[in-house]
Amino acid sequence: MCRCKTKRKVKILRLKIDKTMSHTGYSYYKDVAIDSCISDIVQALENNNIYMLGSCCGHNEDVGSIALQDGRILIITDSKINWIEITN
Ligand SMILES: [Zn+2]
Repeated sequence: MCRCKTKRKVKILRLKIDKTMSHTGYSYYKDVAIDSCISDIVQALENNNIYMLGSCCGHNEDVGSIALQDGRILIITDSKINWIEITN
């Protein structure tokens, strides 16, 4: 769970919208507001051409998640203990 206090703190990242997710059939770049507390993770995925559908840090209410284009979901939690609770 993220310990951020606000839903408004975002970082604008320029992310590639892959052609498979584009209504035009062509890839393009779009400025997207990303929760600042997970923007480094999102940027790292982007830098490695791992395309995403959406993300949320959880805003101190739930675990964070990043939805990947291929259907997988990355779960973001703040500790190994929380990770064990989630996965068991
Ligand atoms: Zn957060």
